[in-house]
Amino acid sequence: MKLFFLGLDGASAQIMFERNLPNTRRLLAQSRYQACMAEEDYPYTGPSWTSIYTGMSAEEHGVTDLWGRNIEGSESYDTLRDPVIWEMLNHAGMSTGVVHMPMTTCTRQVNGYIVSGFPNDLDHAGVAAELMPLLQARDISDLIRLTPRDRILDNTWYRNYTLDQSIEILKKMIDWKVEAVRILVHTHPVDCLFVQYSMLDRIGHLLNQYLRLRDGQDWSYEPLLELYDWLDTRLEALLDVGADYELLIITSDHGWPAQATEPYSYDGKLFGAWHSHDGVLIVRDLSEAGRVQTGRTGPCYNRDVCPTVLGLLGQDYEALRNATSPRPAERPRQFDGKASEQTIEERLRALGYL
Ligand SMILES: [Zn+2]
Repeated sequence: MKLFFLGLDGASAQIMFERNLPNTRRLLAQSRYQACMAEEDYPYTGPSWTSIYTGMSAEEHGVTDLWGRNIEGSESYDTLRDPVIWEMLNHAGMSTGVVHMPMTTCTRQVNGYIVSGFPNDLDHAGVAAELMPLLQARDISDLIRLTPRDRILDNTWYRNYTLDQSIEILKKMIDWKVEAVRILVHTHPVDCLFVQYSMLDRIGHLLNQYLRLRDGQDWSYEPLLELYDWLDTRLEALLDVGADYELLIITSDHGWPAQATEPYSYDGKLFGAWHSHDGVLIVRDLSEAGRVQTGRTGPCYNRDVCPTVLGLLGQDYEALRNATSPRPAERPRQFDGKASEQTIEERLRALGYL
């Protein structure tokens, strides 16, 4: 395998690089690392991941909605007219596995396999079918949505599970996904593997949900930092996908602040914290050429990730972007019908977005 690309939605540079996380520190010592900034106007999952996928700014690719939905003039993964990184890699002759990368769907073809990402319908294309039971829950919002409910979504979940229980469930889902990925790599090897874990973003949103339940009382930011500590203990398992690879990329779309602020109200809702701009880019190059100088370097933007990765794989970003036709080449279907819109809204509500 040539590339393992690990996405960590919401991983903050300040916490990843400055908190005492022993395994992360060891990795950083072998890597080039930097803050990977979300754009000033779009510190959101949809635009930022699309910039990572395409190497373009939000203005250029047109995905401006928080969650990359095809609403209010925003493009979506389905309507995007520009090629994404796995399409460019496919064009260059490399196969790709894509698991739970945010906003992805199965409407665009991939040479390899793809399991769609939040908040779109769970779907898969290619050879991942037998692993789907392990990959059903892309994150906690899928579970929340699937729980039987008699009233509104959040009430059912948050009244039945404590914060600690929710966090235990999050961790369990991560361990399952790690196992599923190891099996996939073994049974269906690809040249380039993309996998995304969203617990660092989800814990932030969960904290806000539980904060609301308690009307802002006893606000504690510790659970978020403790999840970084836990993730650090799992780092080796996350990085060991069961095959050797030369190039490791870890990146995030935006961050989450490292310090708790006092709870505040916005738009009638209580928040403890919200996205920050400082995502991460970590590059570990174990190839013989050793093209990457280790150490911390200045910040880059989300849109710099794609050219960087392709360059490290010996590809020319501009040339590949021009040569690759996005698949399908014609603009595909728009959002089709209310049902789909509604289910996406339910998932977002489960996270407390709406
Ligand atoms: Zn995000």
